[in-house]
Amino acid sequence: MANYEDIFKKIISHAKEYGYVFQSSEIYDGLAAAYDYGPFGVELKNNIKNYWWKSMVNMHENIVGLDSAIFMHPNTWKASGHIDAFNDPLIDNRDSKKRYRADVLIEDYLSKIEVKIEKDCAKAQKRYGDNFNKTEFISTNSRVLERQKKVDEIKEKMNHLLSSGDFEKIKLLINDLEIKCPVSGTNNWTDVRQFNLMFKTKVGATEGSSTDLYLRPETAQGIFVNFSNVQKTTRMKIPFGIAQIGKAFRNEIIARQFIFRMREFEQMEMQFFVRPSDEMKWYKYWKEFRMKWHESLGMGKQNYRFHDHETLAHYANAATDIQFNFPFGFKELEGIHSRTDFDLKSHQKYSGKKLQFFDNEVNKSYVPYVIETSIGLDRMFLAVLSHAFHEEQVNDNEKRVVLKLPSLLAPVKAAVLPLTKKDGMPQKAKEIMRSIKLDFNCQYEEKDSIGKRYRRQDAIGTPFCITVDHQTLDDNTITLRDRDSMKQERIAVNKLHSIIYKKINLAKYLL
Ligand code: ATP
Repeated sequence: MANYEDIFKKIISHAKEYGYVFQSSEIYDGLAAAYDYGPFGVELKNNIKNYWWKSMVNMHENIVGLDSAIFMHPNTWKASGHIDAFNDPLIDNRDSKKRYRADVLIEDYLSKIEVKIEKDCAKAQKRYGDNFNKTEFISTNSRVLERQKKVDEIKEKMNHLLSSGDFEKIKLLINDLEIKCPVSGTNNWTDVRQFNLMFKTKVGATEGSSTDLYLRPETAQGIFVNFSNVQKTTRMKIPFGIAQIGKAFRNEIIARQFIFRMREFEQMEMQFFVRPSDEMKWYKYWKEFRMKWHESLGMGKQNYRFHDHETLAHYANAATDIQFNFPFGFKELEGIHSRTDFDLKSHQKYSGKKLQFFDNEVNKSYVPYVIETSIGLDRMFLAVLSHAFHEEQVNDNEKRVVLKLPSLLAPVKAAVLPLTKKDGMPQKAKEIMRSIKLDFNCQYEEKDSIGKRYRRQDAIGTPFCITVDHQTLDDNTITLRDRDSMKQERIAVNKLHSIIYKKINLAKYLL
């Protein structure tokens, strides 16, 4: 088994063991692609949401929030194009009966070639040592050039076939590349078919009077249909944005990789309305801003990259993904799209209501253009959790598992631990806890040895452990242990609040 698969499995079982993420309906053997967030998971999720909201809404005078309903008028999805165009190309393997996304099969094939290129580079690096220049090597080595040419050609062909909807030729491409089903090992494929990703449901008491509804596949449309409501009530002027966090639902053909691809997930989206012809300027601005937001969490610049789209969705004139280096490689974490005036114009057409803005600087009304930033909350959660997970050798015969979460996002900021249950230590510890728990989420623990309790807090990702001992009762000082360095310091109880506050102070992170 590849090493990354091993690590990923460990992360998934750690998430379960420590109350971060459970399989949905586990007692009934689970439901594929649905997950429940446990006591620590919900805290981490809320902290991510809060950080996003603060930086996108509270720190921008021209961005406001919204919480729109999941159910929307069915015409919404005609106008948005989701009924006609929100499809994935699916293909089945007749032997294994497994279903795949045709484009994902081809992309996986290409990733394997890309891995080979990386291996060529690693070998050359070993051979040339400090004299190795990766950029030069990639642009001159004949084997690498050949591999890259193959990747580029296949990509171009696939994108062209996908955008023209030529499914027969996509199947031919899969056959030509001799792509086999990872389960059966055969290439006994069915034809490629379109599959709409929206979940349909019905509202209404009787058969005759019921209406077909869809569970929203993105939160964005709730923002577009409320454009005028929000603009008028807040008296916002272009450029301005509307942000929302909420659930979205997609009937994903294959749901893999834990919480990376779910059928019910959460998005944090912001639609920024701009003057027509200003959109590229703002597209650039939001690309940079969002990348900085990710980098501010200190999870390593090298773990992010942009992936500009060659094939654009029906509504977009530019699009990029921010990819993160997940345990299974670089994959999309966030999308930034220049959505033109497609959505507002289309809702105008279908609803018959004007969705325009009178711009008194240029003295005319227009349908604004839109830049969207859209990040999956669950994918962000996975990025944070997988980056934080470390197994460390503490000394010759002791290992620890530690979640080195950004302190700002850690579910529990401090654990308060009386050394023993005697001599009034628990009472003192609880008194200390009372003095800080309003501002910081804290945990009190008195069971097990202090060493075991430290390990448990490491595994949860708690940045600080506060230990109350005999000396505390005499001089009101405690031992403060740092999660990452494991260093312990003796400090006065009245300094505790400011030390913790300094570590998780939003101002240190926020842009
Ligand atoms: P993918 O190519 O991975 O299917 P997408 O391009 O369809 O993603 P968008 O429609 O741009 O995704 O959605 C914006 C964000 O929502 C994505 O960047 C991702 O973080 C998140 N997201 C989309 N689909 C899922 C899903 N099934 N499970 C979890 N998060 C998702």
